[in-house]
Amino acid sequence: MKVGGFQKFSLIEYPGKICAVIFTQGCNFRCWYCHNPELVFPELYSPEIPLIEIYDFLEKRKGKLEAVCITGGEPTQHADLIEVMKRIKDKGFLIKLDSNGSRPEVLKTMIELNLVDYLAIDVKAPLEEYSKIVGWQVPAEKLKKTIQLVIDANVDYEFLTTVVKSLVREDLQKIADSIKGAKKYYLQKFSPLRLGDDKQHKEETYNDKELNRLAKIFEKNVKFYGVR
Ligand code: SF4
Repeated sequence: MKVGGFQKFSLIEYPGKICAVIFTQGCNFRCWYCHNPELVFPELYSPEIPLIEIYDFLEKRKGKLEAVCITGGEPTQHADLIEVMKRIKDKGFLIKLDSNGSRPEVLKTMIELNLVDYLAIDVKAPLEEYSKIVGWQVPAEKLKKTIQLVIDANVDYEFLTTVVKSLVREDLQKIADSIKGAKKYYLQKFSPLRLGDDKQHKEETYNDKELNRLAKIFEKNVKFYGVR
């Protein structure tokens, strides 16, 4: 697994747990609003952090840290992800995985092997219209498989959408319909500041009032929804 960043301590990445965060390099999506281009575009990659250094660090933090969050980039791109998760689990840590949801087969394996304790899965757009956000049309069937798999799994999870203005009310309604029955969903406020002071990006943001109004779309379809 190619690791481009490692955060030794976080109170916010895993709900209610003290965790470390592994940032993997590489992503099959090209979301126009991506906040982590240095983990997506190979020409921007920083030198890899050897996994052995991370394992050594975690070994010394047993009993102090509770969990490890694996994010990216897109972690499921890496052929040895499952092996890495096994090594981390063997040390006694909980694992949270962030994913864009494009590889249900990998998620299925980690669920079946009890390697994941919390899944945060993006639902970036109506399932048939991913190209307007991610740069290519992800097969909707794969996304549907991921959503159903996560809803049916005996694992904590959340779905989330980064809400930009090109996602209109009807789009959010379609997203709500696609995750009907889900436990938890967040509308994540798009932060143009992290992309630079660009006018076009500023225009892509809903304000808090608008976002809270839009969140109500999810009221009937999920057990809990929130804005952050
Ligand atoms: S899926 Fe995530 S990491 Fe990949 S391009 Fe989109 S926002 Fe960036």
